[in-house]
Amino acid sequence: MMVHFVVFASLWLLAFSGPAVGAEDMPTTKPQVQTRDSQAAMTPATALAALKEGNARFVANATKRRDWSAKVVATASGQYPFAAVLGCMDSRVPIEVVFDQGIGDVFGVRVAGNVVNADELGSLEYAVSVGTKVIVVLGHTGCGAVKGAMSDVQLGNLTGLLAKIHPAVEAAHCGAPQDSSCVTKVAEENVRQSLKEIQHGSPYLAKHFDERTVTLVGAMYDVASGRVTFLEN
Ligand SMILES: [Zn+2]
Repeated sequence: MMVHFVVFASLWLLAFSGPAVGAEDMPTTKPQVQTRDSQAAMTPATALAALKEGNARFVANATKRRDWSAKVVATASGQYPFAAVLGCMDSRVPIEVVFDQGIGDVFGVRVAGNVVNADELGSLEYAVSVGTKVIVVLGHTGCGAVKGAMSDVQLGNLTGLLAKIHPAVEAAHCGAPQDSSCVTKVAEENVRQSLKEIQHGSPYLAKHFDERTVTLVGAMYDVASGRVTFLEN
């Protein structure tokens, strides 16, 4: 009798506990990771769409369930990421999480204020040389680096980094760092500055953009909603 009750209770729980949260992205025996073929099959448009879909899953709290250990094993012999994201170091904007991507899917280049120098350009050139189809510059609301530049913070090596954001502060031409909408405006302008520096700082990348084998886009992440909004060109 007790066994019957336990079985019945279990079935009831199964029936009424609702759908499982998140979609499976792989059969349990064969982890789905980016391969040379799957990467080659993607275009700049499908690569961008994959990032947009991933962020939509993240915002809906319906991220894919992943067997991380299996992905580690499956990617041990190589990586074929379809995207590269230049983002800020901000702890609230982890690239793979906000785009709901797994191991081996995305190159992440992170530096305070998502600024561009030769090291970032070299990193992005490497990403493209191994087949990446889309480069995203991802700024975000409430950016501390942007606020620091607006406040003209002086601190060791940070001073030089913030100097790269000063042109965006001047271009945005708005209020103080206490004004969150102004911080967002400067952060967006800073993304546009980084886009220009990527476009003009690397003949190798520019050739790929011109040939439309790689696309370059800017985006803003909202730390309050989790949503990524891609900028119009
Ligand atoms: Zn930031």
